[in-house]
Amino acid sequence: MEFALLGEKLGHSLSPQIHNLIFRKLGIEGKYDLLEIKKQDLDDAIERLEDKYIGVNVTIPYKIAVMKKLTFISPEAKAIGAVNTIYFSKGERRGYNTDYFGFGRLLEHNAVTPLENKDVVVLGSGGAARAVLQYLVDSGTKSITVATRSPQDATKKFSNFEALPKLKFVSYEQLIEQKGGALIVNTTPVGMYPYIDGSPLPQEVVARYASAVDLIYNPVETLFMSYAKAAGRSTCNGFYMLVAQAVAAEEIWLGREIQAGLIASIAQEIQGV
Ligand code: NAP
Repeated sequence: MEFALLGEKLGHSLSPQIHNLIFRKLGIEGKYDLLEIKKQDLDDAIERLEDKYIGVNVTIPYKIAVMKKLTFISPEAKAIGAVNTIYFSKGERRGYNTDYFGFGRLLEHNAVTPLENKDVVVLGSGGAARAVLQYLVDSGTKSITVATRSPQDATKKFSNFEALPKLKFVSYEQLIEQKGGALIVNTTPVGMYPYIDGSPLPQEVVARYASAVDLIYNPVETLFMSYAKAAGRSTCNGFYMLVAQAVAAEEIWLGREIQAGLIASIAQEIQGV
């Protein structure tokens, strides 16, 4: 059984390691390729891939561009406006967004849920933020504030986002004036290797939130996370989400449920989280 990750530059991807471990633990003869595709070749590639692969994951910068080639888009992917998993089944090209489920599993694993009636903040308005925001909307949060370098541009970028009326876009200066809340999620790349001395916010602001989640997983502890930890707050990185979205993709491709413990055992084995 063959699967692959489709993207433009995939040099440091951890996905083959994660999927190969899933295959080993499930006793499956699986293969997971990295496919670097140029923009102009994307449409042809999708058509060719269905002859060889059961399914593919999709990453930067193609999560939106692939959607026009699909015959079915799941409700969560439609709401988010991006697809990270394609399943080639009976002549259909079916699109899903397992980042959404991955983020949910990350919150559950770290006991950040339930979020009903909680005030939450998301930093950044890129691709990952969309899945995070949709999950937070669906979790019944009371308020969702999105901090962005340009509230005006971000509002425009989200004009096709179904849950736009539930979001409040603010600048970082405005966020710093606000009181804290239950959860703050960093979806920006600030603090990611090799620029590990960066944090999207100063320590005294991060400390105002009961939980701080960073989607970055390299380094294992970002400066943002260390600020939260120093204030006695709960904190976690994004590696569990990365593993959980991979397991959710395998569930779609294999057409079966995978026991919940597999995510934790793979996250533990590779990164000790
Ligand atoms: P992206 O589409 O490029 O979006 C990142 C957003 O961060 C941008 O839209 C921007 O929002 C903000 N940003 C970028 N550079 C910034 C800077 N220098 N200062 C402040 N804000 C900045 O990237 P992405 O795909 O969403 O990924 C974002 C991060 O999440 C990456 O670190 C990635 O590795 C991680 N990620 C993790 C997982 C996981 O499974 N754990 C999954 C997906 C992504 P504004 O313009 O609104 O400020």
